Amino acid sequence: METSRQTIENVIIIGGGPAGLASAIYTARAKLDPLVFTGTLPGGQLMVTTDVENFPGSPRVSGAGLMKQFRDQAIHFGARIVDTDVKRVDFSKQPLEVYINKSQNSKVKTSSFTKVSEDKQNYKSKSVIIATGAMPLGLDLESEKRLRGRGVSMCAVCDGFFFRDKPVAVVGGGDVALEEALTLSRFATKVYVIHRRDAFRASKIMQERVSQNPKIKVLWNMAVEEVLGKEKVEGVRLKKIAKLLNGSTRLPDGQVANNTTIKQFNNSILPISGLFIAIGRKPSTDIFKGQVNMDERGYIITTIRAGLMGLDMSKYNHEHLFMTSVGGVFATGDCVDYLYRQASTASGMGVAAALDAERWLEGI
Ligand code: NAP
Repeated sequence: METSRQTIENVIIIGGGPAGLASAIYTARAKLDPLVFTGTLPGGQLMVTTDVENFPGSPRVSGAGLMKQFRDQAIHFGARIVDTDVKRVDFSKQPLEVYINKSQNSKVKTSSFTKVSEDKQNYKSKSVIIATGAMPLGLDLESEKRLRGRGVSMCAVCDGFFFRDKPVAVVGGGDVALEEALTLSRFATKVYVIHRRDAFRASKIMQERVSQNPKIKVLWNMAVEEVLGKEKVEGVRLKKIAKLLNGSTRLPDGQVANNTTIKQFNNSILPISGLFIAIGRKPSTDIFKGQVNMDERGYIITTIRAGLMGLDMSKYNHEHLFMTSVGGVFATGDCVDYLYRQASTASGMGVAAALDAERWLEGI
């Protein structure tokens, strides 16, 4: 298809993880000729996951390998994939407008790219599927970044199984951290929860479950200073939070602190094989602020959630559960999902959004 005839696209997909590429496969098979902007690091979070064993139908595959299969399948059915960032959108009127980062065009590898780029910066489309995902927050330590996928993980459901019969630690004190600790307790010999304060933010029920689990030990008022290990995680060096928050005198082992015992916990080394970081996530939705409804954390609100939240439904369409507050703009995967956050759920949602978009296009 030539650029001149493609002035208004049927569907532009923003995001190249499981949700975006699943949408691409479905819309391509529906002959909608989707144009996919994946960003400059295509593949999403699976690219930093070593092995994936829980994607139904793929007993064991590398994260990058799984994403290559998604991508190849989308290209096979005719999706045009461009590895560039979208820098701005304008959803105030139809056709919807998407602006890409022109300077990144040279990085595009997909052969079909030349048919659509020609130095273009601004694309118009009848529909857009947003599948930009979410980024787990990290500790911002060089050692943690180096060992990501080699023992440092952001997902116990994805990676916990690899640590059976080994000691592991989770950093964080919210619901996700405690959920991760409980999941890991099914595999690991011991699970340490490293928390920077002396009280959890997590819900009471999760706190109860953790306190009743004999495999889980909470290290209060502690922070990870360095992740140890050359090729894989072998331990962490801990730092006592010098000034105990809330005037607490509780030590990581639960004992009351005195000067001698506080020193004892500084610089202590905890030997572990896996470090799970669960200190929150940030949906990658900044460029959509002011364009579609979002919650206070930046997750895009689609029809299905607007209904659950009891929002004014006048901007939503019950026929399209993955449509946003703007007609023709759909959102899917981790940028809407604060709860399940699996590659398989993201790809399922990508399929649903694609079917929604297809039906919506039939109706206009
Ligand atoms: P969260 O509730 O914001 O908790 C983040 C935790 O990480 C906090 O304990 C925080 O410590 C800690 N933290 C933040 N930055 C840190 C840093 N740089 N170093 C060390 N620790 C750090 O986030 P979440 O656990 O991801 O949960 C997100 C939302 O989903 C929450 O509203 C949660 O309730 C919800 N959720 C609900 C369920 C459920 O209902 N079943 C399950 C999962 C998630 P401080 O406490 O000191 O700030």
